[in-house]
Parts: sequence; C-alpha cells; structure tokens
Amino acid sequence: MKNIIFIAPPAAGKGTQSALLEEKRGYLHLSTGDLLRAEIKKGTELGKEIDKIISKGELVSDEIITELLKNELKSIKDKQFILDGYPRNINQAKTLDNIFAELNIDNYVAIYLNITEEEAMKRVLGRIVCSTCGASYNKYFQELKPKKDGICNKCGSELVERKDDNEETFKIRFKTYLDVTNPLLDYYKERNKLEVVESSNDYEQTYNCIEEILKSEDVDN
Ligand SMILES: [Zn+2]
Repeated sequence: MKNIIFIAPPAAGKGTQSALLEEKRGYLHLSTGDLLRAEIKKGTELGKEIDKIISKGELVSDEIITELLKNELKSIKDKQFILDGYPRNINQAKTLDNIFAELNIDNYVAIYLNITEEEAMKRVLGRIVCSTCGASYNKYFQELKPKKDGICNKCGSELVERKDDNEETFKIRFKTYLDVTNPLLDYYKERNKLEVVESSNDYEQTYNCIEEILKSEDVDN
C-alpha cells in the first residue's frame, strides 16, 4: 500500500480518515506538531531548543522540521505512513522530494480531500459538544444529531455550540486554505502523484475511495 500525503481543507474529514487508516491498515500518522512535541519530551538538545522557540511564540524553522521528519521516516522504514500538515507549500514539497529520494521512498500518493465550502461550513457550524463529557454532535446531520434536542446521549448533560467559528471567520479560513494549497495541488498533479477524493459524502464512502487508490498501481509505473 502507498504512503500518503494528506491535503485537505478545514472540516474535510482528514482526522477521521487518518484514524480509519491507522485502525484498519496499520498506517502511522505523522504530523509535524506531534514530532515537535515528541522531541521536546525526549529532552534532547534539539528538543530544548524547540521548546525555547515555541515558548517565545515563534515558528519553528523549516530546517528543524525537515530534520525531525527525516529522522522519523528513517526510523519507521518499512511501515506505511500518513503525512499530515506537511508539506504546506512548494518549498516544503521540494524538500520532501529530496528526503524521499535520499530514503528511496517512491511509493506514495498525495490525496486531496475535496469538499464544498457549504458542506464544510455545515460540519463546522453545526457542531455542538457536551458541556460535561465532551462528546460531539452535529445538528445538521441526521446520524450525528443527539437523540433528544440539546441533550447528550451519553451523560444527559446540556449541549453547547462551539464559539470559535462563525460563518465569516470560517469563510476566510476556508478561502485562505485553498489559496495557499492550490500551487501544491498543481505540483503533485504535474508529477502524476495527485488523487482527488470527493469528501462531501459520508465518511465510509470516502474511506472506500481512498483504499482503492492505495491499492492501485501508479499511473506512471
Ligand atoms: Zn455528555
């Protein structure tokens, strides 16, 4: 099965699909945030440096992230992986190409989870969470609605809306993501490595599409 570079707009279901691939296919989920946190926890010199940078509220450099990613990919060698949140731009994509070349990794595909803005917005703005146990629901989807309006199925507590997103900020976040990501999609398309999966449908359908892609042979092989 192929390694995966996941590219997906907000609320396209990347987290859900990653979890399914981990569970059903034994994929390793690699996110740069996790790698940074793991390095800090190890207490290495580099970890201490990263801790300082993050504490100051600054961004960790591409060099450091590249280093961590390369080491991680070396150490997991034969396992299939999902890259989540990297690359974010063309420069990082080129760096990743170099890492892959160095480690002889050619069996990969960039998967773009395609979702309409309307659908993504319903997923985000319809989200309601339990004030006590944190279980989450969605008032716009029949299968995600609580059994009783405004009440948690699991513990009976009150459900509240999440306040971090409103329509306006979501639209900006969504558009910004597309603007930043489009060049990246072109990059992988030119290299015959891009697959677009429709993600507006239910998650099982999306997962099946992804599995088909992972099993298929490369177009250029
Ligand atoms: Zn609850």
